[in-house]
Amino acid sequence: MDQKELLVEVKNLKKHYKDSSRSLFKRNQSVVKAVDNVSFTIEEGETFGLVGESGSGKSTIGRSILRLTDITDGEILYKGKSVHQLSKQELREHRKSFQFVFQDPFSSLNPRIRIGDAIGEALLDHGLATKKEIREKVLEVLNLCGLAPYHIDRFPHEFSGGQRQRIGIARAIIMDPEFIVADEPVSGLDVSIQAQIINLFSDLQEKKQLTYLFISHDLSVVEHIATKVGVLYLGTLMELGSRDEIYENPLHPYTKSLLSAIPIPDPTVKRERIVLQGDVPNPANPPTGCKFHTRCPFAREKCKTIVPEFKEVEANHFVACHLV
Ligand code: SF4
Repeated sequence: MDQKELLVEVKNLKKHYKDSSRSLFKRNQSVVKAVDNVSFTIEEGETFGLVGESGSGKSTIGRSILRLTDITDGEILYKGKSVHQLSKQELREHRKSFQFVFQDPFSSLNPRIRIGDAIGEALLDHGLATKKEIREKVLEVLNLCGLAPYHIDRFPHEFSGGQRQRIGIARAIIMDPEFIVADEPVSGLDVSIQAQIINLFSDLQEKKQLTYLFISHDLSVVEHIATKVGVLYLGTLMELGSRDEIYENPLHPYTKSLLSAIPIPDPTVKRERIVLQGDVPNPANPPTGCKFHTRCPFAREKCKTIVPEFKEVEANHFVACHLV
């Protein structure tokens, strides 16, 4: 079997920040551990699905890899180079290979700028092509993203939600990147449109040999695109493994509960629903021991005080749970 190159290595990543929110009666000075000791790797051509509820730290990880935010500790390597130690010049060069696709591309589009200009903007900023070449390249990526040539002269408000996400993807791929962080790229879209956008990500991956970090709160979405999956809870990885291992052999109670909430289209197949108690705890004051113990239906006494080790329980399948 041929060995694929490691593109991204996230090692013991920590992102902590002071929560200085004030209320009428007191000033908060606690430390929020948005990302706490997270490690994983992404190989070339792979799609790593990072799943977790809102506030689990998944977007912070994506932004840290692209160096859109500083990190507190740990290391992120891209092709063996430490992303957070690149000089300004090296970072500028690197930025061409990294791109970001947002949940809401509309918010990053200027309503008064035509779509063709918005898509070609980055090429112009980096001085990578003449205006004529940019126009040709914009037409090429519009076509690749399932949009029509006449869309080049239209304004953002003239597009539907699905088309706007296609524009967001076109803006990313015009730079010929190697690696794309897609942060909740199909949230807020109808299910049928979600499927079209997922298919577009897959087609582009094949045509352009792209590697993705695909961030979502929805395990059913990630199943269709990811080759490897990490399940995050309150800034900590609870389970990590290949897509097949996670969906066919989930071992962590949190992963099991998320999977049990996915509806099964076949009415003859029954799945036991694991209902979680309570809400996600405040990240500024996470539970001691296993962070999941306040909601875990299988919690034991030791779960309240002892942090479970994130260990490899089967080949390339890691779990943080005392019961596994
Ligand atoms: Fe549940 Fe305990 Fe396992 Fe945490 S360590 S997931 S609380 S059983």
